[in-house]
Amino acid sequence: DRRPGSGTPDWVPLRDELRGEEPYGAPQIDVPVRLNTNENPYGPSEVAADDVAASVRAAALGLNRYPDREAWGLRTALAAYLSREIAGVDAAGVWAANGSNEVMQQILQAFGGPGRTALSFAPTYSMYPEYARNTHTRWIAGQRRDDFGIDAHAAVALIEAEQPDVVFLTSPNNPTGTALDPEHTRAVLESAPGIVVVDEAYAEFRRAGTPSALELLAEFPRLIVTRTMSKAFALAGGRLGYLAADPAIVDALRIVRLPYHLSSVTQATAEAALRHTDELLAQVDALRVERDRSADRLRAAGFQVAESDANFILFGTFDDRHAVWQALVDRGVLIRETGPLGWLRVSIGTPAEMDAFHTALQEVTTT
Ligand code: PMP
Repeated sequence: DRRPGSGTPDWVPLRDELRGEEPYGAPQIDVPVRLNTNENPYGPSEVAADDVAASVRAAALGLNRYPDREAWGLRTALAAYLSREIAGVDAAGVWAANGSNEVMQQILQAFGGPGRTALSFAPTYSMYPEYARNTHTRWIAGQRRDDFGIDAHAAVALIEAEQPDVVFLTSPNNPTGTALDPEHTRAVLESAPGIVVVDEAYAEFRRAGTPSALELLAEFPRLIVTRTMSKAFALAGGRLGYLAADPAIVDALRIVRLPYHLSSVTQATAEAALRHTDELLAQVDALRVERDRSADRLRAAGFQVAESDANFILFGTFDDRHAVWQALVDRGVLIRETGPLGWLRVSIGTPAEMDAFHTALQEVTTT
């Protein structure tokens, strides 16, 4: 495993604050049961894959030309998808990039930067501080409550004290699975002086009755809601993240994006996948059922389980979580050692994969 960050020789003129840093990433270990990066265990069908292949072939014939810089066809298709949930979203209010990772980095390039501050509430997605570091944005982490929700009073007090230019809220949150109380989101929006990003990478997995922040877009023009095709659409390998916001916010992001950042192959792939939305999202219901079933099994086995609206579950607690993680790997089951000390996170796989996980966990924790 090469770790360019920690092993950087002195002669490599790396920025001081990057010395000793390690590139982000979960271990990619080749085991039979991979439940560590919140991927969708169900790949696209043959029909969807054929459509992607045909669309990519058509795009290939034009690869001598740069792609549509504005990705207008794709943004129109994404707006149509979001319109299933909320009226009034059009292509001008949608932006797309190579994964929501890139979307969020662009947000900090445009709205963060030297002399500016970004803030979130930990434990949360561990990439946010890295986007901040990469864009020279000051980073502040507030704390979530013991149940991993947000303490609205403390959040508002912190926002008033720090006056952040960008606030990241994550709902459902990674790694805890927690969906935000809409009143808490509103309290943050009412007190934040700048941009508020609600990262909804796992939105499609939320339980019935849990609202999306999309509903607040009309009321709060500095709100950005980010989504991804990596999880619900089973398109992690396609790298397509997107956001909905006021068109003026989208226009501001266009200033910092690299020209032609979305390749014609990526645009063709994502547009083809969106034509199969119903089929791809059909698996989401099965995953939600499997999640709830797994949470029940973990509770029945005596574990603490965080309420989850996502396609993963945080559970614990273990005196030596690394030993448990390693013992599961030894049995061919890869989960994620992340989150607050003592907890582990398992992504929801197929029923057979989850059975393998529960069986291995039982062996590991009862011997
Ligand atoms: N936000 C959250 C909360 C995530 O968990 C992830 C992926 N693990 C992302 C954003 C980034 O996803 P992608 O770049 O694949 O869209």
